[in-house]
Amino acid sequence: MEEEVFFFALILRLVPEERPEADYEKAEVEVVRTRITLACTECKQRNYNMTKDKKAHPDRMETKKYCRFCKTHTLHKETK
Ligand SMILES: [Zn+2]
Repeated sequence: MEEEVFFFALILRLVPEERPEADYEKAEVEVVRTRITLACTECKQRNYNMTKDKKAHPDRMETKKYCRFCKTHTLHKETK
């Protein structure tokens, strides 16, 4: 359940960047947002491209996500 909440939190944080009316957030977004790729630790496939809040996650992110190659939720780690 916790995992689902985290997943929705990620979606909510990604959405404002795609909405033109969220321009007022842009200055802050450009400062703290970093583009990252999340790779499955089981099969090493890069499954997710996203941005992260560098203030909230100064180190490499690790999160459980669905891997379509493993067909289950696996630990995904940030790669450059
Ligand atoms: Zn995998």
